[in-house]
Amino acid sequence: MIARHDLIQRYGGVREYLDQLIAFAEAARNELALDSPLLTQYDYECWMAEIRSYQQFSCQRCGTFVSAEPFGPGAYMVESSTRVCGMCYDELTRTSPSVQRRLARLAVYAHEHPDLCAGLIVETQCRLHMNDWQLECYLGLDDLGVARLALCQRPRPGHENADIATLATMVGCSEAQLRRLFTDEPQIGLDALPGERSAPRPFRLDSDEALPF
Ligand SMILES: [Zn+2]
Repeated sequence: MIARHDLIQRYGGVREYLDQLIAFAEAARNELALDSPLLTQYDYECWMAEIRSYQQFSCQRCGTFVSAEPFGPGAYMVESSTRVCGMCYDELTRTSPSVQRRLARLAVYAHEHPDLCAGLIVETQCRLHMNDWQLECYLGLDDLGVARLALCQRPRPGHENADIATLATMVGCSEAQLRRLFTDEPQIGLDALPGERSAPRPFRLDSDEALPF
């Protein structure tokens, strides 16, 4: 059986090349004319959909498949646009003094669902440098309440007051406390904002000391 360290070394290198190759293929695809014979000859869209699905459900560091959960694939963001499995997350953050496991999960989910409150939670938690437990105190919610809030739609422009009141009732916290999430000063220069649709970032094998955000 291959040792975990060797697995990470071997897979991580190949995976970096795969992610770069996909980015190259996408760029080349955009350069082709719509009636290019290459596009009719090969089933490019089908290939790309399969490979994207693989990227989404496999750990970028060790290749382990992550399971589907309410927050999409069970992947964790360690650096901006990197996705790893739970075991890799624990290995990469074992020296970190703060508990941000849920934040790392939500960051992946928010990246794919910028219309939901998950993004606001991630932005606020990063900006105020709170760990998972501190965020719960800040909002007056338990772990389940934070998860429930993350899955809700953001308040609609022009209906903020009514929508925040509804959200507070749904997730079970005070309206005044929840309102802090929507009215506090916005972050400037945050590196891991959700909604940035960037290409997967190469996972550097020498970044094992990296802390989340
Ligand atoms: Zn992994």
